[in-house]
Amino acid sequence: MHSLVVESLNTGVLLIDSDYNLVYFNHFMRSHPALKRPDVLGKNIFEVFPELPKSWMTRKLQGVFMLDSPAFSSWEQRQFLFKMQHTRPITTNSEFMAQNISMLPIKSETGNSEVDHVCITVEDATDVYFYQEKLKLTLAELERSNRTDGLTQIANRRYWEERFNTAFLSAVRYQEELSLILFDLDKFKQINDTYGHQAGDKVLIESAALIQSMLRQHDVFGRYGGEEFAILLPNTQLQGAYELAERIRIAFANQVVNYKTDSIQATLSIGVVSYHSGIRNYDDMLTRADMALYQSKRCGRNKTTIYQAG
Ligand code: GH3
Ligand code: MG
Ligand code: MG
Repeated sequence: MHSLVVESLNTGVLLIDSDYNLVYFNHFMRSHPALKRPDVLGKNIFEVFPELPKSWMTRKLQGVFMLDSPAFSSWEQRQFLFKMQHTRPITTNSEFMAQNISMLPIKSETGNSEVDHVCITVEDATDVYFYQEKLKLTLAELERSNRTDGLTQIANRRYWEERFNTAFLSAVRYQEELSLILFDLDKFKQINDTYGHQAGDKVLIESAALIQSMLRQHDVFGRYGGEEFAILLPNTQLQGAYELAERIRIAFANQVVNYKTDSIQATLSIGVVSYHSGIRNYDDMLTRADMALYQSKRCGRNKTTIYQAG
């Protein structure tokens, strides 16, 4: 009767002796390809299951035999010990069963003080594994969309400011260079009025892509407002920032955005500022960049202005 119960469990059960030879396995384990062979009983488990991590598992089993206390392995540590297909009605990116394993000490003779067998149970944890993986992906996607501007797919203002704040504090603390470029598209209202709002959207999308392609990995590019963008340049001096701003301004003016039958060209006005000791906080730095940008607008647009005190 007892053996019938073990046989029908929805959990794998194996019994091994102190030489790690396989003494018994239940029906659940029969889905393992190695156990389809007729001559496996009495054989060493590391021969029968070549996928087992031998030295790690030997250490665990030695502990069970010698200390008379159980050992465990969860799917989070090792996805599986026994390479089997899972039994859950779900599709996962892994065809193998995620397993929780227990190794339990057994004294087969009554009154025996020595552990002479170990019972290994194999529990299918694929559904937990699957939902955990799905949750991880969902959280990562949520995090990404939380910091991304939906239209241009670059950093949104909240995330960009967060990065700016961190970079600013680091620049102050370690006396690093830090520059900021602020852009605003020229006469963008006119573009919308002439070609339509959707055409304007396309100009924004392609503009962001063009600028992004001109940046280094550590530069932080964000949509600051409707048609305003900002680039944070860590470890960059004013001259370097100015040169980059000019390259972007010129490339931008030469860009043609095609929308339906229209070919649209636009220009940028730019303000550039670098961190120095007179600047107390990052708002100060933004205000100065904004003032330089305003100066570019006043001087006829399609210009780059470096902030100068006074
Ligand atoms: P200036 O050269 O002085 O910057 O002129 P401007 O027309 O660009 O400035 P203004 O601030 O008056 O207009 C900005 C326009 O940008 C108005 C607004 O409708 C448009 N805009 C803001 N966000 C979006 C957007 O997501 N899509 C589109 N198509 N237009 C936008
Ligand atoms: Mg504007
Ligand atoms: Mg504008």
